[in-house]
Amino acid sequence: MGLESRIQDTPGKPLVIAERPGKSGSPTALVYGNYDVQPPDPLEDWVSPPFEPQVRNGRLYARGAEDNKGQFFYVLKAIETLVQTDSLGCGIKVVLEGEEESEGSTALTAYAQEHPEEFAADILIVTDVNRVPSGEPTIIMGLRGIVAVEVELTGASYDLHSGLHGGIAPNPATAMARLISSFHNEDGSIAIEGFEKNIRPVSKKEKELAATAPFDAGQYEKQTGVPPVAGERGLPPFERVGFRPTLEINGLHSGYGGPGGKTIIPSTAVAKITSRLVADQAPAEAVRLIREHLARHAPEGLKMKIRGEEHGGPPMRVDPDSKSLRLAETALTKVTGRKPVFYYEGASIPVIPSLSKAAGAEPVLVGFGTEEGRAHAPNESLSLDDFKLGFLYACELLAAL
Ligand SMILES: [Zn+2]
Repeated sequence: MGLESRIQDTPGKPLVIAERPGKSGSPTALVYGNYDVQPPDPLEDWVSPPFEPQVRNGRLYARGAEDNKGQFFYVLKAIETLVQTDSLGCGIKVVLEGEEESEGSTALTAYAQEHPEEFAADILIVTDVNRVPSGEPTIIMGLRGIVAVEVELTGASYDLHSGLHGGIAPNPATAMARLISSFHNEDGSIAIEGFEKNIRPVSKKEKELAATAPFDAGQYEKQTGVPPVAGERGLPPFERVGFRPTLEINGLHSGYGGPGGKTIIPSTAVAKITSRLVADQAPAEAVRLIREHLARHAPEGLKMKIRGEEHGGPPMRVDPDSKSLRLAETALTKVTGRKPVFYYEGASIPVIPSLSKAAGAEPVLVGFGTEEGRAHAPNESLSLDDFKLGFLYACELLAAL
């Protein structure tokens, strides 16, 4: 493709790094992507095998088709095309990592911290994001951070007979239900003491930008099968997703879940918990506060073990006056013929804040993923029309640098 590339070993999965110097005095674009994917399970739900790409009705189906291989691939194709047609002025740096989905980007985060000069750039191009559900071209203005905690309650050393022991032995499942219900107040806000302390106030301009992204409750319900009623009462959905933290139970396991009944007092209960953070909540601080809350509410007579922390990633918000944003806005408008909307994303790409810091560059987060693409689920796909739009957008943006 006309780039100098290498595979950089790390203590974890290797990085793919490529580079092409720009014309003298021209800026440098750093392109980020991840080559790892979420596990494809459950395999039986796939119409075609997850690792044998198949085109059906104008969509490419495969694990990673959208998240993130398909999306960074159109940027690579744009670079290749601009090199071939001698229309690339800016310098290019590409970094592809293999731990975004699986390890919270541990290797790249550490490597970028140790070798910031290798990533020095003027703009950081990230495509690992979606458009808003109504389909408008979308510029992502923020990402939530994330931390993960797992809590385990252990009672008796084996599952007890619920008749012989019921009323005497503490039940870890009941205690877990109480414990996790202590996480939220009646109004839906998070009840962890001190959790909100470092949340950055949202400016008038940020609220105005956020309000450009439409939200259709009916369409949301049609798409997901559930009405958008969670979170804090009284706040519009874009604020609940973009500017407020969450504390979610991702998994809850205890006792017998098979067919029929089983009269036991289970010996253990486990809850897997993640919290999405907003600027400027620090991951380590959030984990400390969750741990303290759990310790304060520890149920009597049961052992409590808390694990986690390895998936920590900080939140970020893009400067609404950044020059790179204007460039992306122009490129998107030209390619799609529509004015882009600005969206404060609820998801996390933990490495972006640290990579942006190492590069000294403001990130530009524009992608063409959609809910229909089913990222992380069986039958993941990317529309070929969107692939083409992404390619054209990347061409315009890079050629303008
Ligand atoms: Zn993903």
